[in-house]
Amino acid sequence: MGIQEQYRSEAAALLSSGEVKLVIGFGEGSTADRRRPLFARTPEEAQKFVLDAACIANLSTYLVTEGLLSDGKKVAVFLKPDGIRSVNILISEAQLKPDQVVILGYAIDKAEITALEGRNISDFSLGEEIRSHTPPPHILQEAERIEEMNPAERFEFWKAHFSKCIKCYACRQVCPMCYCRRCIVDVNQPQWVSTSSHTLGNFEWNIVRAFHLAGRCAACGACDRACPVNIPLRLVNYRMGKEVIDAFDYCAGENSSQKPVLASFKQDDPETFIL
Ligand code: SF4
Ligand code: SF4
Repeated sequence: MGIQEQYRSEAAALLSSGEVKLVIGFGEGSTADRRRPLFARTPEEAQKFVLDAACIANLSTYLVTEGLLSDGKKVAVFLKPDGIRSVNILISEAQLKPDQVVILGYAIDKAEITALEGRNISDFSLGEEIRSHTPPPHILQEAERIEEMNPAERFEFWKAHFSKCIKCYACRQVCPMCYCRRCIVDVNQPQWVSTSSHTLGNFEWNIVRAFHLAGRCAACGACDRACPVNIPLRLVNYRMGKEVIDAFDYCAGENSSQKPVLASFKQDDPETFIL
């Protein structure tokens, strides 16, 4: 039995036994190389799940849908390692309880899909995998190129990219870590961040978001893929993640018992912000 059939039948069994009320996975997309989320509530619907190399979205983002888990019933979800990291972060930020989620884990290596063992978040140990995680070579190469720029060149680089931002907030909507019920950019009394698409407002939005994600980003790349004007958001997140590793030896999503890095402190934390 292939992994797709295996997970269809596991999902159907979870639903028919009543262990979970919902399974979130992938269904056919609008084209042969795209997949869309599929929400199965019956064993019959679970037979429509698709699992192949096109299943790249981080479905953990649906777990923080308002009210989804408020009845105490469990939800199962198809997740790659970056989605599992996201769940760890959400648990550490008290947005999920570990026993609310059943994980149907899988990994994609080129076109090959493998099943991950374990169904509870505590079954997955991602420490080494995250520590050794490096972005794809083209991202790393571009990150290094930006590092070598002087501050004025770097400012021009980001100014050119951020000037394209149309404030569609797709990057926010797709991110599992953007779970605030009311985002600060939607607050208009007072209005902290301009909603218009101009240089200052675009910088405000993108920099505020980058800082908000520091030490919290699961490096799933969903924001980068969602951006309709191709702003390389992955580069921003990679740089912020690197800062946090260097300063605090902290990788987001290693396990669910981690404390959020910017909401806790150790006696020997660097105090470079104190002049
Ligand atoms: S900021 Fe982007 S890469 Fe990081 S968790 Fe959110 S969607 Fe994924
Ligand atoms: S997805 Fe891209 S264009 Fe849309 S708000 Fe985010 S950075 Fe701007």
